[in-house]
Amino acid sequence: MSLLPAVLAHGQFGHLPPTQEKDQNFLTEERLRLAVEASGLAVWEFDLATGKPVWSRELKLLMEWPEVLPVMDEVFWNIVHPEDRDIVVAAYDAMLGGDAQGYHLEYRYVLPLSGRTLWVAEWARLVRDSDGLPIRVVGAVKDVSKRIEAEERLRLAAEHDALTGLYNRAAFKERLRQACDAGHEYSLVLVDLDDFKQVNDTLGHDAGDQLLLAVAKRFRAACPDSTMARLGGDEFALLLEAGGDPDEVAGHLMNSLDSSLEIKSNRFAVHCSIGTASSSVAGKSPESLLRAADLALYAAKGAGRSRAAAFAPEMLARVERRSAVIATFREAVALEQVEPHYQPKVDLRSGDVVGFEALARWVHPDRGTLTPQAFGDAFSDATSMLALGRAVCRRAATDMRSWLDAGLRFGRVAINISPQGFAVPGIAEIFVAHFAEQGVGPELLEVEITENVLVEGHACQAAEVLRRFKEAGVQIALDDFGTGYASLIHLKRFPIDAIKIDRSFIADMERDRSDSAIVAGVIAMAHSVGLSVIAEGVETDRQAAILREAGCDHAQGFLFGAPMPTVAIPGFRSNRPLDRASSRGHEPRLPSGNR
Ligand code: C2E
Ligand code: MG
Ligand code: MG
Repeated sequence: MSLLPAVLAHGQFGHLPPTQEKDQNFLTEERLRLAVEASGLAVWEFDLATGKPVWSRELKLLMEWPEVLPVMDEVFWNIVHPEDRDIVVAAYDAMLGGDAQGYHLEYRYVLPLSGRTLWVAEWARLVRDSDGLPIRVVGAVKDVSKRIEAEERLRLAAEHDALTGLYNRAAFKERLRQACDAGHEYSLVLVDLDDFKQVNDTLGHDAGDQLLLAVAKRFRAACPDSTMARLGGDEFALLLEAGGDPDEVAGHLMNSLDSSLEIKSNRFAVHCSIGTASSSVAGKSPESLLRAADLALYAAKGAGRSRAAAFAPEMLARVERRSAVIATFREAVALEQVEPHYQPKVDLRSGDVVGFEALARWVHPDRGTLTPQAFGDAFSDATSMLALGRAVCRRAATDMRSWLDAGLRFGRVAINISPQGFAVPGIAEIFVAHFAEQGVGPELLEVEITENVLVEGHACQAAEVLRRFKEAGVQIALDDFGTGYASLIHLKRFPIDAIKIDRSFIADMERDRSDSAIVAGVIAMAHSVGLSVIAEGVETDRQAAILREAGCDHAQGFLFGAPMPTVAIPGFRSNRPLDRASSRGHEPRLPSGNR
């Protein structure tokens, strides 16, 4: 039985004049069939009196239903996806109950023969007789799986990180917002991989991506039920609801990285730092929770990384103190209260002063002269560091000018350049030009950088900047050597003139033989690649003697002179002839050769 005559006879498409009814019926039926075929619709009807459904050929094809098998009402209900049955029943009942003329729904079929799931759009209408009584339902169905799948793909792409398939930042924030709106307690776990940048820089971004993917898989396996995101870079986040314990989750995540990962046939021991925060402590809003977890993460890193820390309100207080220090320090720089003091560097054999290091001091109107310890917080603030760099250079240039004018010989003056300063485009040229303005030549200048400058930026960019300093005639020293990567690669790869052995090694040399052995080893190694060596923080004659014995070239420390203001430089004489036996019977002198 065809569905279409029933539709025509009973309703939706209107009654025809009796005389032409037969011909017109035929013509309209043909037109409708054409329209139905062209639209890709599959139609059905359901006789309310008999309870018998009729499916068009197209619908049977769509359902993969064999032509010969009879169709019963139960068949249809079995085909509707179990999760969607309620909405279809509700729409159907509303229509039969007179609340609606018909319905339009999108839902799923599970095809009985192949088990395939199909998304369909369905339009249904109730047909009434001339007395207005419902006699049948007619419907049309269209396979919309392709469209829904495409929409789903778009939604996934919009919500997920392309590399790991985890939620992206925006989608994660939305989940946080929903958790917050639900009003329950919830927690956040923020994860940052330690030293990920190094992998990226040494093995390339491709290997970095593979590493992130491998880590995401480990995390996923460790916490399969949590809402997990990659917020960007090497930062991951987990949202825990319904009483999930963030400390326990942090433990699982760390354990999941216990065994090393293999990337491009290299094995990597990967570690992470974790910050956690719960809405009960940090406040319910997503912003406050994110900030709190971020602070906890910062604390975990500050405490030495590869560990987890939970947010505590004191962390917020500390941040507020930090902001206050930064604000007052910026102001102090603007008020020209920050100036360099100069600490001598001496030749360990002759005792002659070979130069000075410019060290920032805050000459505070009430608190006296403050060392960087008092404004350490400003070191992580880019704006403060750039302002400090400019202030120190400006004062150093005028101080050096005045020393030159006074006929003083002072060797090279070393300026510490922060990682933020080093990243300023054209820094080498700006630096040299700045001193040139005061007639101070590059042969009187040295820059001190730490190894993280070489690691944090792109290595090739760092090499290029250093090359420009060198080409301009400025010497380069690697500061605090031994506290960071202490990498031989850095010594080989970058055009460095000297390394400064960190004070911590020197301090322990007298007590700890292994420290003296390390220092001797570093000196030999540096000499073998043509670098000179300066020891920092030399405080005792014994330390100076051990260093001299090991062949160390230069030294700097309270033994020879503390950092002093510019006015003290002309009168400065080192109070410590170094090797009394070998000293040539005079006090260490300021170097010759600066004009
Ligand atoms: P640094 O560049 O390694 O400077 C050496 C530090 O050791 C200085 O600390 C100096 O006063 C201290 N020192 C020197 N001899 C001795 C000694 O015999 N015993 C002990 N215990 N300490 C000694 P200071 O001046 O407090 O500076 C600390 C750090 O702050 C510097 O370490 C440097 O990294 C940074 N810094 C200082 N001034 C500047 C600056 O103008 N710009 C930048 N970017 N960083 C600066
Ligand atoms: Mg230094
Ligand atoms: Mg140092």
